[in-house]
Amino acid sequence: MSLLVMKFGGTSVADIKAIENVADKISAEVRAGHMAAVVVSAMSGVTNQLIQYCQDISPLHDAREYDAIVSTGEQVTAGLLSMALQKRGIVARSWQGWQVPIITNCQHAKARIEDIDTANLKEQLQNNSVAVVAGFQGISDKDGRITTLGRGGSDTSAVALAAALKADRCDIYTDVKGVYTCDPRIVPKAQKIHKICYEEMLEMASVGAKVLQTRSVEIAMKAKLSVQVLSSFENEVGSDLRGTILVSEEQIMEKELISGITCSRDDAKITIRKLPDMPGIAARIFGPLAEANINVDMIVQNIAADTKETDLTFTVPKEDVKRTLNVLRQYRETSQKLSNVRFEHSHDVVKISIIGIGMKSHAGVAQKMFQVLADKGINIQVISTSEIKVSVLIGEEYAELAARALHSAYNLDSCE
Ligand code: ADP
Ligand code: ASP
Ligand code: MG
Repeated sequence: MSLLVMKFGGTSVADIKAIENVADKISAEVRAGHMAAVVVSAMSGVTNQLIQYCQDISPLHDAREYDAIVSTGEQVTAGLLSMALQKRGIVARSWQGWQVPIITNCQHAKARIEDIDTANLKEQLQNNSVAVVAGFQGISDKDGRITTLGRGGSDTSAVALAAALKADRCDIYTDVKGVYTCDPRIVPKAQKIHKICYEEMLEMASVGAKVLQTRSVEIAMKAKLSVQVLSSFENEVGSDLRGTILVSEEQIMEKELISGITCSRDDAKITIRKLPDMPGIAARIFGPLAEANINVDMIVQNIAADTKETDLTFTVPKEDVKRTLNVLRQYRETSQKLSNVRFEHSHDVVKISIIGIGMKSHAGVAQKMFQVLADKGINIQVISTSEIKVSVLIGEEYAELAARALHSAYNLDSCE
């Protein structure tokens, strides 16, 4: 008897009809003889609405109360899906994060799973009952309060649960047929990738392919877990692989130069003007941001001319802009040397990245990207690279144009 973890995202459980469809899929797997642990997201739009309520009360709210609020969406779906399964004669029970328990650290709103005690779930699964677990949430090991895992965190709940249960496979059901060479909503010619290695998926997720949360890919890679991304709107059932499967690099025979392109509108650009150019200044700026748990991504600093002052530009998640400016302003007040610095921010940017393990052994990949953008008259504001990725920050208005032009230039367009 194999054990499957099945995860259903927001659009897959958007309304009662969709939840009934999901219940049919789970019933089919159970009737085919599998044990099933199911992880659910909140119904589509619910988490956004809950976050908006928090913002409306205060943009700089208490993260513990934020977690108490935004975790509720998943609780509703877990209960509804359990009822829909029971209606089909399947024994099912809902579980919240603290009931499993899914233990996390205390970084509220961005918590990391530290441990999952699977004893209770295993007992239920062995009695042929389906466990429906609320995704996105856990309980802090320090304060015993509900935590959430960051946007898209139900993917991580599912993969971590599959790893802890030593499941045979983790199926991530979503609203597209798998992982594509680019977001199919941005590049209509994007193609479904049949197999993608963990490393490439990790880079794609970390630069904005939101089909899987980054942390979920890290956990899958570490556990060498078989993860499949597939559509919940296709009617086939059974355990044949039909979406995109995550595999290790050795299992990919043909290493594409570029496997995927991502386009992220999640980042904002912060520029600090008139910063004194002296040793230790970057550490002093980024230290307080790290302490406030703000993730800084792309960074560019100019060399000062004779004025001994320079500009520093970096990106942070859009949702953290207010907190970032707050931390920077507070810090400026405590430091005489920073009294002249000015802060600017812009939301009108998009980060475009090209990803491919083939890049490791080929020169000129980044140059081609810069040329394609130059030919379209697109100005590059910030660049960052890793061994298998090049990212550029450009004006938001160029997102589609840049993604489509690069997709064609690297021969990723489908022939259909
Ligand atoms: P869910 O609610 O199921 O978790 P998400 O909205 O989080 O779904 O993720 C699925 C979405 O990710 C797709 O609808 C698609 O627009 C987007 N996406 C971005 N990049 C990619 C990609 N490379 N391949 C597939 N989907 C992608
Ligand atoms: N509901 C949460 C979100 O929208 C978690 C998830 O869907 O994965 O971010
Ligand atoms: Mg998601």
